[in-house]
Amino acid sequence: MEPIILTINSHQLTDYQACEEKYRLGTIDSLEAKKTKLALTKGTLWHLAMARWYQARLEGYTKERLLKLKVDIGSSILASELEMEVASLIYKRFMEYCNHWEGEQLTPIAVEGLDENGRDRTGFSKLFDSGPNYRVIFEGKPDLIATCENNKKYWIDHKSQSRASDHYSYSNQFIAYTWGMGMPGKINYTVFVKNANDKTYRRQIVAPDQKQIEQWVERTKIWTRRIIKSLLEDSFVHNPASCETRYGMCFFNDICKQTNENGRDWVIKSSFKKREERYSSWK
Ligand code: SF4
Repeated sequence: MEPIILTINSHQLTDYQACEEKYRLGTIDSLEAKKTKLALTKGTLWHLAMARWYQARLEGYTKERLLKLKVDIGSSILASELEMEVASLIYKRFMEYCNHWEGEQLTPIAVEGLDENGRDRTGFSKLFDSGPNYRVIFEGKPDLIATCENNKKYWIDHKSQSRASDHYSYSNQFIAYTWGMGMPGKINYTVFVKNANDKTYRRQIVAPDQKQIEQWVERTKIWTRRIIKSLLEDSFVHNPASCETRYGMCFFNDICKQTNENGRDWVIKSSFKKREERYSSWK
C-alpha cells in the first residue's frame, strides 16, 4: 500500500487544534469567504508594500531609486480599493516605516514571492515524521530572510496590527519557521494607530532553544498522527469553544449554524468560493 502523505503548514495545524471541522472546511474542502474582511485587505496591502521595499533593497537599488520607489509604493497604497481614510493611514505608516528603519542592520537574502521556476523564494518543505504507512511533510514560508546584526541570519515575519500586542513566541508558526529554516526569527510589527508612539514600529526576537523545538516537534507529531486518523476515518469534530476568535467569529460560522445539508450547501454556494489550488504556504 502506498504511504499516506500529509502536507501541512502551521496555519492548518492551528486550525485542526482549534477545531477539526475548521481544518476540514479550510484545508480539505479549500473554502474561503467570497468577501474578504477589511483587516485582511489591509494586511495584504502592507505585505505587498514590504515585499516590494525589501526586494528593491535586495537588488541593491541606489538611494535615489529607493526614494522613487518609496513614492511609487505610496501612490499604489493611495490608489488601492480601501477607503481613503484607511489608505491614507497605511500610506503614512509606510513613509514613517522607511524613515524609522533607515540605516537598520538588515540585508535581505530572500523576499517572499515566486522565482523564475515558480518556486517560493523563502519557502521550506521538510520531512517531519514518517512511519511504515505515512509521511508528514511540514512546510512554511516566512516573509523575508535577512542577515542582521553580527551577520546573523533571521527569518522575518511582518505583522500589521490595529493595537500593539506581542504574539506568542512559541506559536506553531514561529517555532515551525525556526525548526524549518534552522535560524531564529524576528517579528516585524507595525501598528496602525492614528498617532505613532514607541510601540508602533518594533521587533520581537523569536529564539527558542533546541529543547523547546524538540518538545514542539514531539507534541506536534501526536497532532499530525491525529489528523491522519481523521482523514482515514473521514471524521472531523466541531469545537464550538473555538467559534469566537481574537479576530471575531470564525468565518465558517454561517455554515456550522445550519441544521441541514441544503442550508449548508446554500451558504457555501452564496458566501464561499473554492480555492483553485489547495492552500499551500509553499510551492
Ligand atoms: S464555526 Fe466553530 S464549529 Fe464551525 S468550523 Fe468554525 S470553529 Fe469549528
